[in-house]
Amino acid sequence: MTPSASVLARLGPHCYVDPERLKRYEIPERGEPGRASALLLPQDEAEVGELLQLCSANAVPVVISAGRTGLVEAQRPEGEVVLSLERLDQPMAFTLADGRSFTFAARSTADVHAACLAAWWQGQGAPACEGAALTVQAGMAVDAVNQILEPLALMWPMEMGSSSAATVGGCVANASAGANAVCYGTAAHLALHAYGYSASGVPMDSAAPTWQAVAPDQLAINSAAPQPDWGLIGTQGVLGVITHVELRVYPIPAQREAVLIPVADMPAAMRILGAARAEFGGNVEEFEFISLAALQLVRQLRGEAFRSPLAEHNAPYYLLLQVKARDADSDLAGRLYEFLAEGLALPEAEIGYAPLKALKEIRHSITEASNARMRALGGGRLSFDTATPVAVFGDYLAELEADLNRAFPGVALVAFGHAGVGGAHLHILGSAEQPVAPQAKALVKRVFDVTQNFGGTFSAEHGVGTKWGEEFQQRAPAAVRAALDAAKHQHDPHGVLNPRSFGLVLAPEN
Ligand SMILES: Cc1cc2nc3c(=O)[nH]c(=O)nc-3n(C[C@H](O)[C@H](O)[C@H](O)COP(=O)(O)OP(=O)(O)OC[C@H]3O[C@@H](n4cnc5c(N)ncnc54)[C@H](O)[C@@H]3O)c2cc1C
Repeated sequence: MTPSASVLARLGPHCYVDPERLKRYEIPERGEPGRASALLLPQDEAEVGELLQLCSANAVPVVISAGRTGLVEAQRPEGEVVLSLERLDQPMAFTLADGRSFTFAARSTADVHAACLAAWWQGQGAPACEGAALTVQAGMAVDAVNQILEPLALMWPMEMGSSSAATVGGCVANASAGANAVCYGTAAHLALHAYGYSASGVPMDSAAPTWQAVAPDQLAINSAAPQPDWGLIGTQGVLGVITHVELRVYPIPAQREAVLIPVADMPAAMRILGAARAEFGGNVEEFEFISLAALQLVRQLRGEAFRSPLAEHNAPYYLLLQVKARDADSDLAGRLYEFLAEGLALPEAEIGYAPLKALKEIRHSITEASNARMRALGGGRLSFDTATPVAVFGDYLAELEADLNRAFPGVALVAFGHAGVGGAHLHILGSAEQPVAPQAKALVKRVFDVTQNFGGTFSAEHGVGTKWGEEFQQRAPAAVRAALDAAKHQHDPHGVLNPRSFGLVLAPEN
């Protein structure tokens, strides 16, 4: 797997082997550190293509590194060279629907780019931005993109806890979802085009369809079923590398309102989703769920600083419902209140109305709270990112919790996530007496078996990577595996790019 020094010497001036320099690329977001044989730091897009061509021709295995927030260990090298996209972090152009276009100047900060774009837009008479597109290099962070768009009251709606570092290219490659996928779809749907190079260095131009509301009996998000005909989009870097992306942009809603609602069980929660959709249609921007265990961990973490609009916290689950309106004048808050109080007949004590920021703080603190609890318990943690069709999501969670309680009474389940698209983040915490490690295999099997019984997927939005490669080979339908294999052979004939992801076993050829 490790290329020789003479082969590495052929990769040009931006190939680095200094062990100190390699260190930061060896540590994944989660999991054990790996080992990099070299770092490739292309300075522009063309160099990415050249390097891929060289690596393919010389059978040099490569893993891709961008914002390094991926949770399935795809970016962790095991002797491969690391191809980092960190220099490709600049915006390129903003184009209005009528063809008027602004080209960003040389390398600068997001602040400067934002000011230049805003000045150009004002100079054009502040035209409407319906149908506009922003083209950016793949290594640009999601938050930087939104910083540039904000003065035009536009956004690229990826709502993830990792958006300050996660890159646009990473999100599009992984079809990342996040809290508002229920409204805008995944990052794959938020890209008009993704451009880059196949694993063997051939230029590629890929497109994916726009987001369509998914029938409740179908899986809305499933990163264990990549679509090879989308090319670079959603195929998680096993076919090629995205170097720049043309993004669909959306208006920032003039109004947003949110509420925390306690519910007796998840089937009841999903009935509320149905009712909210009937009332607000495509303006349901988020529909998240938080289990009592997750809420209690946040409460514990925040202590005195914990803020909740509810007086009591003893319901098994909580929903975070967020709705939006494009016009500033309608009474969105009144309409939401009427829906809750009259439509759902909720008593006052169960309407947790609060500023959006306060509710988001609870939701975004769960992972940190779970980390703290895991350290305190000292028994390790297993993390899952599953999804089922929305129609059975409530029943699925109820059954999974009961099943785990029966089979593994010593472990604790912390569940939260994107109920609007049937997505669940599941943390299983062990204790010093009952650590998860010795039971890990059995726990993983149990969680995935139950998920599969409900027509679900073992990977909703985080991708397959190397972490779930074996599961992909065992659980993905034969047609899905065959299509990915065929595309891999076509675009990566020597099996050099992310060679361990998806458990693909293309042996590198010499
Ligand atoms: C706190 C936290 C919260 C998160 N929340 C969410 C969430 O809500 N929803 C969600 O979906 N994910 C979430 N994630 C996971 C992660 O942010 C996403 O998977 C993201 O897309 C990774 O982007 P990155 O730039 O960090 O990629 P990296 O971690 O650097 O790369 C991971 C892999 O992605 C592929 N890749 C990256 N860039 C490219 C490219 N340009 N071309 C081809 N392949 C590429 C490669 O296979 C690479 O090995 C979260 C992570 C953290 C740490």
